[in-house]
Amino acid sequence: MQTHFSDFQLKDPHIDHANGILRKCVHCGFCTATCPTYVLGGDENDSPRGRIYLIKNMLEKGEAATPETVKHIDRCLSCLACMTTCPSGVNYMHLVDHARTHIEQTYKRPLIDRMQRNVLAAIMPRPVLFRLALVAAKLASPFKSVIEALGGKRFTAMLNILPQKLEAPMAFGRAGIYPAAQKQKGRVALLRGCVQSVLDPNINAATIRLLTRLGYEVVVTDNNACCGSVTHHMGKEAPALASAKHMIDQWSEAEVDHIIITTSGCGVTIKDYGHMLRLDPAYADLAKVISAKARDISEFLAQIEIPQAQMNLRVAYHAPCTLQHGQQLKTQAQALLRRAGFDVREVPEGHLCCGSAGTYNMMQPDISKQLLARKLANINATNPQIIATGNIGCMMQIGSATKIPILHTVELLDWATGGPKPEKVSQI
Ligand code: SF4
Ligand code: SF4
Repeated sequence: MQTHFSDFQLKDPHIDHANGILRKCVHCGFCTATCPTYVLGGDENDSPRGRIYLIKNMLEKGEAATPETVKHIDRCLSCLACMTTCPSGVNYMHLVDHARTHIEQTYKRPLIDRMQRNVLAAIMPRPVLFRLALVAAKLASPFKSVIEALGGKRFTAMLNILPQKLEAPMAFGRAGIYPAAQKQKGRVALLRGCVQSVLDPNINAATIRLLTRLGYEVVVTDNNACCGSVTHHMGKEAPALASAKHMIDQWSEAEVDHIIITTSGCGVTIKDYGHMLRLDPAYADLAKVISAKARDISEFLAQIEIPQAQMNLRVAYHAPCTLQHGQQLKTQAQALLRRAGFDVREVPEGHLCCGSAGTYNMMQPDISKQLLARKLANINATNPQIIATGNIGCMMQIGSATKIPILHTVELLDWATGGPKPEKVSQI
């Protein structure tokens, strides 16, 4: 694609980087076939190629984003299916991240939109505040229809994805050192995470049990740690980079072999720290080291030997976009579940997003609902007893619309290899 940035514009390293990405796109349109928003609506501006043009025009003009451009960029899920499909290696992720930052810095959103984003950005990365917000939201649940009638569709979307039951805080999994239960093979850090640690602390507990049983010492450095992913995807660069630096400081000090992540959305961001902080002289090198040590739990377990088992249960595996497209980890979780004896069913149209996508299901409820309905129909077609996945956002989104128990892959692996039976599958 031809671009027309001035020499002055190209002196900005962010624009220079975006220019390199834009020039790789050859407009072939292969990416449109796997883009969920294009598949649903058929609007070129809601396809990767269309968005790339919109971003190019926005950046070349160097002016404030227009409402039309913002609308189509906001509708992008950042699922990165387009990056899996693109034959030219266009790094859409870096391009749309930069576009979101530009929008955040130049565009004044309508008041309600601004308020909702600011509230989510302030609350979600802080586990204590997030728990309080969940309690308040539960209390508001009976008034859902009134809120919707008053025009609060986005607020009812938040209420719709609340878990049935708010998990009690768990001591196991909080900051500390969890020693290996056998001869130590290594020392790893586990990202405790913000949203996941509140919504489902069983995931971290299962991870610690499994890793220590396999001979790894596990370090949890911080009870209130957010990797910066939530704010990063809203284009709020300052808080995102502050969170990234905080985690880098903690993990550098912990001197671990690897950093284990059980939320694939966070994994994409942490693996990108090296890029996000490339222009920061104090953190550029450290960030690269941390990104190189980051491993999704399925990626890490696939590289070590875990025991075989015979679970004989039908499991539909939902591949999170941030795992299959964002981290290109397409087979590891399924292979681990099969090794544990589960009858793993691949979900048709598995490349399509479930509509969760971080805060997307709250910001774009109409598109999100359509994707969820499509995902559920595909999952149900496999007749599963259990749904497995690797991202808390997908778990909440899919779990809000089905009675089939949905668990993180690591919870099933822990159970299969000697851990307790998860409460969610007590009826099976
Ligand atoms: S597939 Fe890649 S090169 Fe082709 S239009 Fe999409 S982003 Fe551009
Ligand atoms: S990230 Fe997903 S929604 Fe966004 S353009 Fe790419 S395929 Fe479409």
